[in-house]
Amino acid sequence: MTNSTNSRGNLQYNSTNPQSDDRFRLERLTRQLAGVLTGVVGFLALAVSLPVHPTMLEVGFHLALIVPAGFGLYYFLTRRLRRRAVIRQAPFPAHWHDILEKEVSFYRTLNAEEQQRFREEAHIFLKEKRITGINTSIDDTVRLLVAASAIIPIFGFPGWEWEQISEILIYPHSFTEDYQTNQESEKSILGMVGSGAMNRMMILSKPELLQGFRHTQDGHNVGIHEFVHLLDKSDGVVDGVPEIALPARAIAPWLELVRTEMERMRQGHSDMNPYGLTNEGEFFAVAAEYFFEHPDKMQRQHPQLYAMLRKIFRQDPQSRLTRALADMIKL
Ligand SMILES: [Zn+2]
Repeated sequence: MTNSTNSRGNLQYNSTNPQSDDRFRLERLTRQLAGVLTGVVGFLALAVSLPVHPTMLEVGFHLALIVPAGFGLYYFLTRRLRRRAVIRQAPFPAHWHDILEKEVSFYRTLNAEEQQRFREEAHIFLKEKRITGINTSIDDTVRLLVAASAIIPIFGFPGWEWEQISEILIYPHSFTEDYQTNQESEKSILGMVGSGAMNRMMILSKPELLQGFRHTQDGHNVGIHEFVHLLDKSDGVVDGVPEIALPARAIAPWLELVRTEMERMRQGHSDMNPYGLTNEGEFFAVAAEYFFEHPDKMQRQHPQLYAMLRKIFRQDPQSRLTRALADMIKL
């Protein structure tokens, strides 16, 4: 895979091999299903609208109406795929790549092909979701860090769509439960997944979002934390059991492991953020921050938890880190 920068400062790259990528298999399947649905609807429309013994003229007349409508339906059903294909082909600004390289340690551990997929996913996310600053300015760094927070937890699910969310609000600092920004408050919140009137929204505190990526040694990353809650919420409830990623038979062993790890925390025998003791949902999000920021340390300190999270997130950041370090030494 080769990357180069053109005269306008945009990163050019060879297009992803469509045969080897799960996203394209999903897209092909969607196109095929849209085609079958269009065919069935067209056939039924023809069968219902024609008289019992139609003449050729009547058949021709009905086909002249139904065929363009069928194309319209197919076009409608596949509109998102076409929009995404355009985004994928669009140049990714070189300074965005520089921001990812500088700010996102996860991105630095990816190989060239994975980095390309990460950029494509981030580009699609930024085009499809609104990111709004509330009484604060937002720049490309903030926008890209929101996108990185969204892509990192689902990077093992090619073609994943964040259907559950349409807008991310960026607050100037932490906030209270009634969404007031008040630095004096003791119950300050750094980020949250909205519910009720705030459904399909997420709030992130700007300084904590930035610090989450800049301080890579502390195991805290509010952006990843909130998107992991959102992944958990895919089955309707934030309970620390991401059913979308766990086969039914794995749920009981997972909960047992969570409770064992929480007990270790309670007894002071764990290096995990004690905020994870709040409930199973918070434990899952806190564990995910650790998993993505310190995969090597987690694998040493919590091998069972690491192995389980590797299955849940369908990725192995520890091997990726080892590979990236080996590549650096070779250079
Ligand atoms: Zn949380």
